[in-house]
Amino acid sequence: ATPLALIRGGGKAANRGILMRSGDAFQVSPDIDHVVLDKTGTITVGAPAVSEAVALEGGTRGGIESEMLATAASAEAFSEHPLADAVLEYADERGIDYDDPEGFDSMTGRGVRATVDGDDVLVGKPEWLDGEGIDISGAADEVQRLQRRGLTVSGVTRDGDLVGLLGIGDGIKGDAAATVRRMTDAGITPVMITGDNQRTAAAVAEEVGIDRVMADVLPDEKREEIGRLQDGGHRVAMVGDGINDAPALTQADIGIAIGAGTDIAIESADIVLMGDRLGGVMDAHEIGTESYRKTR
Ligand code: ADP
Ligand code: MG
Repeated sequence: ATPLALIRGGGKAANRGILMRSGDAFQVSPDIDHVVLDKTGTITVGAPAVSEAVALEGGTRGGIESEMLATAASAEAFSEHPLADAVLEYADERGIDYDDPEGFDSMTGRGVRATVDGDDVLVGKPEWLDGEGIDISGAADEVQRLQRRGLTVSGVTRDGDLVGLLGIGDGIKGDAAATVRRMTDAGITPVMITGDNQRTAAAVAEEVGIDRVMADVLPDEKREEIGRLQDGGHRVAMVGDGINDAPALTQADIGIAIGAGTDIAIESADIVLMGDRLGGVMDAHEIGTESYRKTR
């Protein structure tokens, strides 16, 4: 039988929009010493928007912005990634005309590859473009400038030439910094994990007070990173919202799905937070820990 203290704890949690789905949500709670937080949609609001578009010609400023945006929007038209929505919205707001691409491939955790007017177009991480043999060195300063502002940079290439950069920003949740402080006050180490690059990730982490950052992590590597912390003797909670986070949520000692989440993320989680508030993570931790202690 479930001890009364846990039933009461579950009720208290439910009143705050927290669903305790498993016994681990209580039992493991007192032992958690690391909380791994996905960046996009967990620490940030998850509604990215383009804040700067730079058209390039031969690596430096000077290309035609409307052409670059039309190229990027066509390539992203079939992508379901939030970053793609940001590009389409920006192009739409500016009345840019773009067609559906003739070919499309989603490169998970990297970007998109598409055929636009017969040309090979890539939109995605600069590191990925570099690995595809595209010379992005001429724009390195621009890329770094945008990343230091905490923006995610997508490079736009057409037939092997870099024709533009898109600096995409995503606001930080209002209660993120306060929640990080609650974690460190409770002796828990917060860690940010993201597929985004190190510079952008570090800028966001600094703003909320997180010292440990795992950046450039591909979706299937997030689970391994959690496993590595556990191998080091740590008890780890993972907070995420996306479909890509399900394996990591399962691997963690406590998996926490935040926001609307996806059905898959919710299925993989021990705790589901109904709202977008990051503070729910620490509310759940406190309720779980306190309720479990009362059973002992
Ligand atoms: P996160 O870990 O922040 O949820 P993802 O693993 O989904 O991010 O993607 C990692 C990185 O790959 C993004 O930060 C972005 O640079 C790039 N990327 C992924 N999908 C796209 C896309 N459709 N358009 C542009 N860039 C993309
Ligand atoms: Mg994601």
